[in-house]
Amino acid sequence: MDELSGICEALKEALLEKNVLARSTFDLWFGDISITSLTDSSAVICTPSKLRKNILSTRFKSMLSECLCEVIGFEVDIEIRSLEDNDESELNKKPEEPDSRMDVPKESAEKERRITEVLSENSGKRSILDEYTFDNFVEGESNKFARTVCYAAARYPGEQNPLFIYGHSGLGKTHLLYAIMHYMRKNHPHLKIVYRTCETFMNELIDAIANSETGPFKDKYRTVDVLLIDDIQFISGKVATQEEFFHTFSALYESDKQIILTSDRPPQEISHLTERLRTRFESSVIVEVLPPSFELRTAIIKKKSEDLGLDIDNDLVNYMAERLNNNIRQIEGVIKKIYAFHSLSNLEINKELIEQIISIVDPGNIPKDILVSRILNTVSKKNGITVEDITSKKRTDSIANARHVAIYIMKSLTEMSLKDIGKIFGRDHSTILSSINKVETYIKTKNNYERDVNEMIKEIKGP
Ligand code: ADP
Ligand code: MG
Repeated sequence: MDELSGICEALKEALLEKNVLARSTFDLWFGDISITSLTDSSAVICTPSKLRKNILSTRFKSMLSECLCEVIGFEVDIEIRSLEDNDESELNKKPEEPDSRMDVPKESAEKERRITEVLSENSGKRSILDEYTFDNFVEGESNKFARTVCYAAARYPGEQNPLFIYGHSGLGKTHLLYAIMHYMRKNHPHLKIVYRTCETFMNELIDAIANSETGPFKDKYRTVDVLLIDDIQFISGKVATQEEFFHTFSALYESDKQIILTSDRPPQEISHLTERLRTRFESSVIVEVLPPSFELRTAIIKKKSEDLGLDIDNDLVNYMAERLNNNIRQIEGVIKKIYAFHSLSNLEINKELIEQIISIVDPGNIPKDILVSRILNTVSKKNGITVEDITSKKRTDSIANARHVAIYIMKSLTEMSLKDIGKIFGRDHSTILSSINKVETYIKTKNNYERDVNEMIKEIKGP
């Protein structure tokens, strides 16, 4: 069996393990699928007919994505194709363009195939559950409390109940849910544990309603011991799902079954939520996962690179920790790409390579000094003045106005303090604050002002 067939078989197993579909339904839609291409960011799944392609795309895509991610250990965009699609155009299609802005390693199809191999050697057919454990969760001040509460919930199901974990994207919430599942399966094997993303839960409910099978749906969810729903914020505005989820939630809660939810925001900030559901969420045990500190970022970079057998200089680790300053998923993405390029092309791991990879993984993430000079250049040019003018003491209207805008944009796009911005313009922090306030007022009161500022921001951030 070649590698892609192996991954496809593992994908089918993962789909079956979800226990959402009857075996005959599974065979009908998934029996003949194959994976025809896989890169570190995308996968193509093929099915024999257009009909099946349409059904897979409309009804099962999110489930396919979720299960494929479980198998390979990272998220990819899925494209579903059919063998009946216009063969010509399929054949003429270019292999998916890897990151074209990466000018050092220009991957050919062969290299792309190797990237897949290199990355999958590390994830292989291992389940994602083996990777996302408490042991592999690096702890720091920002996530310590959340980890402790999750660990307690895993050890003593029902005691931290319901549990509501929230925090920005990429900070480890799904990792914690998987870790809980992993721990429970091992240590409480008798428990019936169900994990769903909010989206899958919603789609299953919609299917059940469409097929007049809401009875089995209700029975299934109301008889579990542990229900984990990831990204519950997507329930916002979904009236029928909220109604059903409220009853599921209540039934489980009343029989002391463990409910664990994650969200990218706290309950009070989820809009279009019925009051009774909000009340339930708000009275949960609520824990926040905060953005990682410099020390935690460093520890994560070290651990993730060691796991891949990469030897990165301490100086570079620190440099990366400074540059990748808010999101752990992004850190992981950069390390995986460094690994792939390093092992394919034996490229030296240095600042340049790291910068190039960051610009691919996170195009908006531009080093501070470059960002500052782009802001000064763009705003000056747009206002017909020079960079010297904008940082000078001159107070003519056009120069002062351009200066206010540059200061405002600097505050919005960089994490610089008022004092540091002040140094660039030779002014104290109260003057900087007053410039920012002025721009905020103009945005509210002057026609087209906001549009002009946004245009400059767009140009500064680049394509
Ligand atoms: P979220 O669900 O909050 O968006 P994830 O749980 O998907 O974030 O985390 C993104 C990636 O970062 C995952 O691959 C995860 O394993 C990794 N990650 C997040 N936090 C940690 C941590 N504390 N230690 C190790 N890896 C982490
Ligand atoms: Mg998540």
